[in-house]
Amino acid sequence: MIAIKPHHFVDILTALGEGHVEFQPHAYGHALHCVAEAILRDGNALLRMELGADDICQPCCHNLDGSCNDTIDTSFRPEAPKSKREWNLLIDRRWCERLGLAQDDCLTAREFCLRLRESSEDISDIYREMPRAGVLERQAKLQKGISLFLAKTAPVP
Ligand code: SF4
Repeated sequence: MIAIKPHHFVDILTALGEGHVEFQPHAYGHALHCVAEAILRDGNALLRMELGADDICQPCCHNLDGSCNDTIDTSFRPEAPKSKREWNLLIDRRWCERLGLAQDDCLTAREFCLRLRESSEDISDIYREMPRAGVLERQAKLQKGISLFLAKTAPVP
C-alpha cells in the first residue's frame, strides 16, 4: 500500500500529461520517482490517503520528524502561505473535499483517477491563489494525464 498526499497523485498525473514517462531522482532525495513509477505501472496499486508526510516525503531532506520544513515561492501567489506544509495541506484538503476523500481512505490508483475524471473539469477553485493562465495549463495537462493513465491501465476484456 502506498501512502500518498492527494495532490501528489494529481501532480503525477499532471506530469504524465505533460509527457513525463520517466521520473528522475530529485536533489531533495524524496521518493517521487519511485512512487510515480509504482503507480504508473499498476492501476491496481492501493493508495492510502495521507495528508501529512507520505511515502514520497519519507526520504526527503525537508521531512523533519514528519513535518515539511520547506517553503514555497510566493512571488506569483502572494495569498498563499509561505510554508510548504501549510500550502500542501490547503490544497490537499480542497482535493479531499472535491473528491469525497479523507485521511486514511484507501482506494486503487485507477479508482482515484476515475474520481478525478468526474471532478477535475475546473480546478481553478482548488488553485485559487495561483495565476489563472498557469492553472488552465495545469488543468489541460491533468486532463491529458487522466486519459493516458486510464487508457494504459484499462482492464483487459
Ligand atoms: S512535501 Fe516537503 S517533505 Fe514532502 S517531498 Fe515535498 S519538500 Fe519533501
